[in-house]
Amino acid sequence: MTFEDFNFHPDIIGGIKTMGFEKPTPVQELAIPLILQGKDLIACAQTGTGKTAAFVLPILNKLALLPVKLNYINTLVIVPTRELALQIDQQVEGFAYFSPASSIAVYGGNDSGNWDRQRAAIESGVDFLIATPGRLIQHIQMGYVSLDRVEHFILDEADRMLDMGFYEDIMSIVEKLPKKRQTLLFSATMPDNIRKLSKVILNNPEEISLSISKPADNILQAAYFVEDQQKLSLLTSLVEGKSNVQSALVFASTKSEVRDIEKKLIKDKASARAIHSDLEQQAREEVMRDFKNRKFQILVATDIISRGIDIEDIDLVVNYDVPRDPEDYVHRIGRTARAQSDGVALTFINKKQRRSFEKIEQFLGTKIYKIPTPKDL
Ligand code: AMP
Repeated sequence: MTFEDFNFHPDIIGGIKTMGFEKPTPVQELAIPLILQGKDLIACAQTGTGKTAAFVLPILNKLALLPVKLNYINTLVIVPTRELALQIDQQVEGFAYFSPASSIAVYGGNDSGNWDRQRAAIESGVDFLIATPGRLIQHIQMGYVSLDRVEHFILDEADRMLDMGFYEDIMSIVEKLPKKRQTLLFSATMPDNIRKLSKVILNNPEEISLSISKPADNILQAAYFVEDQQKLSLLTSLVEGKSNVQSALVFASTKSEVRDIEKKLIKDKASARAIHSDLEQQAREEVMRDFKNRKFQILVATDIISRGIDIEDIDLVVNYDVPRDPEDYVHRIGRTARAQSDGVALTFINKKQRRSFEKIEQFLGTKIYKIPTPKDL
């Protein structure tokens, strides 16, 4: 599936390109068509899955199709923290680069300039108002917030908001909204209080669930910052002559890269083979069988097969490059430490991929230890 499949307005496609997104994430594939149809939605999805774009894009698309720019608050997004408000605001601005949609993040703090800016945007009728509940209520109490034409109401990280005690605040905001509106609720978990809340504020919602499981605890994860030309020597230094690494699995993103690594390893006299979708089925099976039987030490593979490999004792997984998304990362490293054994997963990060790795860390909710790159590479 591609972003073109949603038939977005050219301005939105332009915005998506500007943001560097190539293909929709699973939550985007599922949620965008439902939101475009005007359905209410409960989505069980964590930060890192791409849930922000999942609701921002279809709404921006609706705004882009209007003949005139609106002068009232069209979309209200309620979030638990200032950081999340700012992050969403930044994404709206990025996607709206070619369209006239406006947005503002409204959150607490003592800076009076900030307050005045927030008030001005609210009074002029910003398209996207992204707010923490407490601060929005302060503005509402001043009497100039008009929410009676809100068409889209979004609760993001709803479970966290309830944990933080925002239930009453949320309900008092909901009272100010028109009954006829589209409501979207995103939450990492679905405890009973979220189910109850959704019964009160959603209308016949569709439900989607996309939790990616986190990696097992017995995988030791670490990473190296490296230049591309250092990767091969680093890899060989990690595996050659290491008695505790009998089976190593190396992932790269493209077939040509996989072939290239195999060639270089063999030239370097390493015991390595590659597997990718160009090989005939029979050849693939043979490679897998030999790897299982430990006839060679290093298997080089693409993501396509990361889900299919079921071998119990792989000692080391190496990400020769940073996987495209957190889900691929979890699948790749899950090939080690199977069946209660321990395993090690190492990722090579070049300069261009640092940001992508940060996204993976954000998803995992933890920083991965960076091993200093050996000086003699
Ligand atoms: P979120 O779950 O919305 O917080 O998104 C997590 C990160 O993934 C953000 O940094 C987004 O910019 C990024 N992201 C979301 N969707 C995509 C996509 N389709 N392609 C690439 N990156 C994405």
